[in-house]
Amino acid sequence: MNTNHVNSWLPSANIAGCEFPLVNLPYAVFSCADQPQHIGVGIGDKIANLNALEEAGLFDQFDPSLRDAVKHSTLNPLMGLGYAHWNALRLRLTELLSNRDFQDKVEPCLVDQSEVVFNLPCEIGDYTDFYTSVHHATRVGSLFRPDNPLLPNYKWVPIGYHGRASSIRVSGEAFKRPAGQLKAPNAERPVLELCKRLDYELELGIFIGQGNPLGTSISMADAEQHVFGVSMFNDWSARDIQAWEYQPLGPFLSKNFFSSLSPWVVPMAALEPYRCDWKRDSEDPQPLDYLDSKMNRAKGAIDIKLEVWIETAKMRADNQPAERLSKSNFKDSYWTIAQMVAHHTVNGCDLKPGDLFGSGTQSGPHLDESGSLLELTTGGKNPITLSNGEQRTFVEDGDRIILKGYCGDDQLRIGLGQVENLVLSGNTP
Ligand code: MN
Repeated sequence: MNTNHVNSWLPSANIAGCEFPLVNLPYAVFSCADQPQHIGVGIGDKIANLNALEEAGLFDQFDPSLRDAVKHSTLNPLMGLGYAHWNALRLRLTELLSNRDFQDKVEPCLVDQSEVVFNLPCEIGDYTDFYTSVHHATRVGSLFRPDNPLLPNYKWVPIGYHGRASSIRVSGEAFKRPAGQLKAPNAERPVLELCKRLDYELELGIFIGQGNPLGTSISMADAEQHVFGVSMFNDWSARDIQAWEYQPLGPFLSKNFFSSLSPWVVPMAALEPYRCDWKRDSEDPQPLDYLDSKMNRAKGAIDIKLEVWIETAKMRADNQPAERLSKSNFKDSYWTIAQMVAHHTVNGCDLKPGDLFGSGTQSGPHLDESGSLLELTTGGKNPITLSNGEQRTFVEDGDRIILKGYCGDDQLRIGLGQVENLVLSGNTP
């Protein structure tokens, strides 16, 4: 059966180009008015409240652990149950939202998306940021090391660093420009000042579902059964703080002041039709065995279209719409999600439900497919000019940056939603 053509009885879910058709069903955590926080699933312009569906007796066939998990206020318990339960829930939700026999019982459990406040989808335990775009790594490397842009480990190791989870927020939250130690190239000593080179990073957020015990590793064959779903992720970065602090142990305060996620977690099952082959050029090293599998080569990559948009304070004042700065695609990633999971655990590191991976900035082969301003403006040397004449080298106070992602086309689309944040002026230290 080609489920792409199954319609919902909810008309808004069947509109061409709708981000949340029946074949998406992304998870979110939300609250409305003075109600407690619940888990929901996006459908058309509504959210199906899973707690309400359970109380209406529509999940009675599930075992108690699943019925319990959907009533929780975060996704962590559901994430921890594993993919057999996720699939059972997805199958039932598809039935409830397509079969008209259930319409009368389900409709009271739907809430308008426009009326809810979104929260983070889960309690994020640990957060690891990868660096999987070779195009990003090469362009950024060439700014810092023109003679040696890509370090020799890049094509062997899925590079990453452990980030900080406490400052990860959901889309919509504004934040203040950070301060930090900056040192101009020719200055004798650093100063404590507001960041002058604030940047976004266009990333995919990858949520771990079921974890693994300490001392065990997850094989390529099992890797994706441990992945609950994906979101849009902006790994906000202070480039001037980063340039001074990053050696020898990597980013620290340049990254941990704020990061943000779209409210939706799109299940891996919804991405299935957009899988594509993953290739390694013949002149590049082939991955070590623990990072290789037939399945990964056949369909390890995913065609997810990614976009960056900007809305400046002047655009808002002049009632102009946001403008697109660049687009790229996750299928250009040098490493796949399965390889990130297999590599992360090969030493016995334990993952837990609700752990988050950032994919690393996703940039395409061409300069205008850059997922950061650092690349787009070549380290701030070539400002970009917006259609209203404004120029940008890095993000300015009053700018709103919007990251969007989707699979598919104008007809059938699997939306990842968007993550947007307004940058406020910082407190001068
Ligand atoms: Mn990053």
